[in-house]
Amino acid sequence: MAIQTVNPFTNKVVQTFDEMTDTTIDVLIAQSEKTFSTWKQTTYKPRAEILHKVASLLREHKEKLAATITLEMGKLIAQAEGEIELSAAIFDYYATNAEEFLADKHLDPEFGSAYVRNSPLGVIFGVEPWNFPFYQVARFAAPNLMVGNTVLVKHASMVPQCAAAIEDLFTLAGAPNGLYTNLYISGERASALVSDKRIKGVALTGSEAAGASFAAEAGKYLKKSVLELGGNDAFIILEDADIDKAVEWAVIGRINNNGECCVASKRFIAVEAIADEFLEKFTEKMENLIVGDPMDPKTELGPMSSEEAAVHIIDQIRESVDAGATILIGGTRSDRIGAFVEPTILTDLKPGILAYHEEIFGPVASFYRVKDEAEAIALANDSDYGLGCSIFTQDINRGESIASKIDAGMVFINHPTWTQADLPFGGTKNSGYGRELSELGIHEFVNKKLIRVS
Ligand code: NAP
Repeated sequence: MAIQTVNPFTNKVVQTFDEMTDTTIDVLIAQSEKTFSTWKQTTYKPRAEILHKVASLLREHKEKLAATITLEMGKLIAQAEGEIELSAAIFDYYATNAEEFLADKHLDPEFGSAYVRNSPLGVIFGVEPWNFPFYQVARFAAPNLMVGNTVLVKHASMVPQCAAAIEDLFTLAGAPNGLYTNLYISGERASALVSDKRIKGVALTGSEAAGASFAAEAGKYLKKSVLELGGNDAFIILEDADIDKAVEWAVIGRINNNGECCVASKRFIAVEAIADEFLEKFTEKMENLIVGDPMDPKTELGPMSSEEAAVHIIDQIRESVDAGATILIGGTRSDRIGAFVEPTILTDLKPGILAYHEEIFGPVASFYRVKDEAEAIALANDSDYGLGCSIFTQDINRGESIASKIDAGMVFINHPTWTQADLPFGGTKNSGYGRELSELGIHEFVNKKLIRVS
């Protein structure tokens, strides 16, 4: 995949970047390793100062950075500004809390005294996706830098300007050369890099295919890995739900980030008693979304991130329809230039049909009607993915009891799956392993060193 900015609203190439040579990559990894040797000896205070500075620079340059996101991957401009705010909050969160999260843990052994000290590991390599180009990097880089690790980031090939802008923020914030390093390389070269002895841990956020290839290398070279992969999240609506509220959130859960969100609500599962009412109201709202220019604040649904992404979604819909699915609304490209797909609802889905099993990364909702709660849970769990799940009910005890039966990393009651700095994020099954964000996220790439005193 060429490393280039293509505006998905016009499908025009804006700028192309050269891939880095092996020699350049070698020099950059050497610098990252050298910087680690001094960075690991710093205290939390100077680390936090740099992260707080990055956070304030993000806020200061919010409009410009958000416009770069929208240009490169088509996110609605208000959501892009929200992403910059969220990323700043993540840098501040770890700068403020890391020392407490990483404090020595005193043990109470049978003999002597002992404690666990959280020590840095070294150079950590992250591969990041284009769909939240600042937030994904923030949740990888901020905790690792506070631990005392240094980071290398291979960003998605379609957001090279975002990648460069993030590295520039660290330079402006006074970070030492090699603390945060951007690598312009292809996905295949990223997997090949895992074997480099100077890299001590690896993390990838992206598709199952990329995750499997990356993790295979990590296994082969015995490196700790964290994977944040795809999802096909269920959104369950029970008979006692506030239907209007459920419909509002269902639309947002599906089309937030133009539908290109790993934790988007993708499979809408309604129990028989309220299925007609939910579907009628949901369809009306999806049908009336304002589709258009992501820079226009009135737009509710922008283009897909690329022409290839739009074509792939239409192929997935066609294959599903050929196997028996019904298109309730949409199902086609919009009648306009750019990588647009109409808001779509699919019904009559069953095992064997593509849309039943695969993640569709765009504004395509799969609708299911079930008899009762037990069928809803069974259907929600009938997926190779296990990222998030939403349950709509006015009985919170009932919601919590269902949550414990759902095979997913995150369950939200009366809300679509969401993210914030102080909540852990991650999945089970083919959605990956490990966690990012919150206190859990900072413990992924540390050496939990036992110190025993006799
Ligand atoms: P993708 O193709 O896997 O790309 C993600 C990143 O992996 C990019 O930087 C890509 O580089 C790189 N890559 C591709 N092939 C690779 C390989 N063989 N080895 C190592 N790296 C490789 O993913 P996408 O289709 O662009 O992104 C959407 C997917 O990401 C969806 O499945 C979505 O659900 C998932 N996602 C998950 C989370 C989460 O937190 N669980 C968050 C966001 C997205 P190039 O761009 O150069 O190909």
